[in-house]
Formats: sequence, structure tokens, C-alpha cells
Amino acid sequence: MLILLADAFQADLPKRLEAFGQVTQDAGRVGEAEIIIVRSKTKVGKDMIDAAPKLKFVIRGGVGVDTIDVPYAESKGIAVVNTPEASSVAVAELAFAMMAAMPANLVAADVSMKQGKWLKKDLERTELMGKTLGLIGIGRIARELAVRAKAFGMRVVAYDKYVEKSDAAEMMSLDRVYAESDYISIHTPLTDETRGMINAAAIAKMKPGVRIINTCRGPVVVEADVAAALGSGRLAGFATDVYDKEPPEGSPLASAPNALLTPHIGASTAENLERLGDCIVDRVKAYAAKK
Ligand code: NAD
Repeated sequence: MLILLADAFQADLPKRLEAFGQVTQDAGRVGEAEIIIVRSKTKVGKDMIDAAPKLKFVIRGGVGVDTIDVPYAESKGIAVVNTPEASSVAVAELAFAMMAAMPANLVAADVSMKQGKWLKKDLERTELMGKTLGLIGIGRIARELAVRAKAFGMRVVAYDKYVEKSDAAEMMSLDRVYAESDYISIHTPLTDETRGMINAAAIAKMKPGVRIINTCRGPVVVEADVAAALGSGRLAGFATDVYDKEPPEGSPLASAPNALLTPHIGASTAENLERLGDCIVDRVKAYAAKK
């Protein structure tokens, strides 16, 4: 069987997969592929599925399967799996780093020093200790973030439409999370329900001066509403790893004050790439064993 590695993975993954079949990274051979392995870059939509008549198995190295047309794949008898267990710590550490960097004014301090300025009196800081972190979605990544936030003396509350109780956080309604949180970190999948949920109406329910962290998916927030709230000072900060369009083109966030932007690097730790490789090998091994 032909295994197509459509995106970039750890350098040794092709060799490890050769135990199960022929491995290619040539997207031009999609028509011969029985297994296609992707991260978030390659979109497995109807076009790609129609171009792959031998396809039986799609592996998403990572969590969100919003880049794959799962219903269409399944209607063609193609199984789709992800590797949700691999990335949690990597993404939670980035979310935590963003949350700690904003009140510490880390980026502004670094930029101003390199511009030859000494802003000792201007760069006021606040602490995380004693503040409330509100999590939207209490899945794997949010639970890892909760552990880290508690270690810094934060109170951790959460809303999850599908989870009533959790040891990781005090569960409450979404409106209460909005009203009580000094920091809000979003950890839902992108679905019809979550698309655009962080909009002007939601921001109006939040504490003035709240800071939001988004490491889940860009379209969960309405970028123009967030940029406007940053401009008015209603939001004190917005840190995001993900965008409406990636790479972003003409995003209002690029010029908004107090926006902290990273290029979708939540899962890009060396350790995570190693874990992804292990999970993918396991998935391919299980598939090959069933044949
Ligand atoms: P998970 O499935 O463990 O948790 C998601 C949680 O969201 C679940 O508890 C679910 O019940 C909840 N949820 C679903 N719909 C909701 C709604 N309408 N309102 C409130 N909660 C809702 O997923 P995870 O591993 O924690 O990952 C979360 C998301 O992070 C992924 O879906 C993915 O989009 C994103 N992600 C981003 C990166 C990155 O590189 N930045 C890497 C990995 C994952």
C-alpha cells in the first residue's frame, strides 16, 4: 500500500512507516494513496478525496479535524482518526506563556529596549496570582492549562457545553465565566456552535480590562470585534496563535493595540513532534494489522 505524508513531520517518520508500506511525500501521487497523513496545512476536502480513489484511511496528526471533510470521507468508506493525546502539553504551555507575557509587558519591554528606550516607569505590570482564569471548553488542553494556572495561585473556572463536572475547574455558566474572569482562554473545537462565539455581544458581558487567549481556532473569534475592543480599551489584551485565514491577510489584529500574535505554533514543540510520530506509527500499525 502507498502511504502519503502530505505535510511536514519529524524527519525519521517516513523511515519508520516503511515497515508498513511504500511511503511518499509527493502530493502528485494522491491517486495511488491508501493512507494519507496530514497536519493542519493540507485540507482534505471533497476535491482531494475524489482525487484519491484508493484512499481508505486519513490520519490527522494533531487535534482539530475541521480541516477534513469527515462526513464526505465516511460516506466513501474512508476512516478518519486524529492524535488528540499528543499535543495537549505543547498547546497548554503556549497558552500559559501568552497569559504570563501579557501582564508582564514582555513583548513591549523587549521591543522598547531594542529601540534604545528605557521604559522603567511606563511598563507597569500586574500579577497572575489571585486572578481568575476562565476556560471555555474543559478538554485535554484546558485541563493542562488549569494545572499550570493553579500552580501560579489563580482561581480556575470553566464553561463546557458538554461537561457538567470537572476536577480541573469550578464549572459554571458561560455568562458567569464572562463576568468573573480576568483572563479567558478558549479551548473548544471549531464547530457551527463555536464559530464566531467571541463577538462584540460576548465581549460586552466580560469584565472591562479582561485579556483573552485563543489557541484553538481563529474563526471562533470575530477578529474585527476583538480588534475594536482592543482599540477602545474594553479588552486589555488578546493573544492568539490562530487566525480566520492562515497566514492572515489584512487581519485587523495585526495593527490592534495589545494584540500578541504567534504563527500557529501551538503544537510545534520538538517533544510534540516526537509524540505525533509515535501516535501515527501506532495508528498505521493498527490499520495494517486489520487488513
Ligand atoms: P478536546 O476535545 O479534549 O476538548 C474540547 C472541549 O470543548 C470538550 O470538552 C468539548 O466538550 C468542549 N466543547 C465543544 N463544543 C463546545 C461549546 N459549544 N461550548 C463549550 N465547550 C465546547 O480538545 P483539546 O485537545 O483540548 O483541543 C481543543 C482545540 O484546540 C482543538 O479542537 C483544536 O482546534 C485546538 N488545537 C490547536 C492547536 C494549535 O496548534 N494552536 C493544537 C492542538 C489543538
